[in-house]
Amino acid sequence: MPKYCTNCGNSPLTRGIPDGDTHARDYCSACGCVVYDNPKVIAGAIIEQDGRLLLCQRGIPPRVGTWTLPAGFMEHGESVEEAARREVWEETGMDTEVTTPYSIFSVPPTNELYIIYRARMLAWNGTSGHETQAVDWFLPEDIPWELIFYPAIRQILERYIAERTKGSYGIYTGSMEYGNIHFMR
Ligand SMILES: [Zn+2]
Repeated sequence: MPKYCTNCGNSPLTRGIPDGDTHARDYCSACGCVVYDNPKVIAGAIIEQDGRLLLCQRGIPPRVGTWTLPAGFMEHGESVEEAARREVWEETGMDTEVTTPYSIFSVPPTNELYIIYRARMLAWNGTSGHETQAVDWFLPEDIPWELIFYPAIRQILERYIAERTKGSYGIYTGSMEYGNIHFMR
C-alpha cells in the first residue's frame, strides 16, 4: 500500500534520501514534502515514599501482570515533565511534583527515548487507570523482580535502591550498551 502525500494530496510517496538530507525517508517527488519519522519519547517517574517505590501492574497487553514504573508516550503540546506527571496520574491516580531527571535512556533498536524523573507524591486517590490492574508500594526486598519485564526498568530500580543507601542520586544518560551516571557537585 503506497502512502500518499498529505501536502499535495495525490502523489504516492517515494522512499529514498531527499536532496540535501542524510537519511532515507518517505518524500513526495511532486511537491518535495518530506515525512519525518523520528524516535518517540516515553516519559515516566520513579516515586519513593518512606523507603517504598511505586510500581504499576500492567492490565492490558502486552505483558499483562508484569510490574513497571508509570510511564508512557509524550503527547503533542506538552512538555516532557507534563507528560511524566500526566502518565503517573493516568496510571495511578497520583498527583506528583517532578523533581529531578533520573534516567535518559535511549533504545535505538525500537527508536524510543525514555526520560524518567524522580517525582514526589502530592496526593493520591488510590485508584488506577484502565491500563493498570494494580498500583502498589514496594520495599526493595519485596519488589517482584521476576515480574519486572524491561531490563532498563530493572536497572533504574536497582540503581535507585543502591543510591538511596548511599544518599546520593545520579542521572543516567545512555543506552543498554553504554552510558554514564552523572553526579552533580
Ligand atoms: Zn506532495
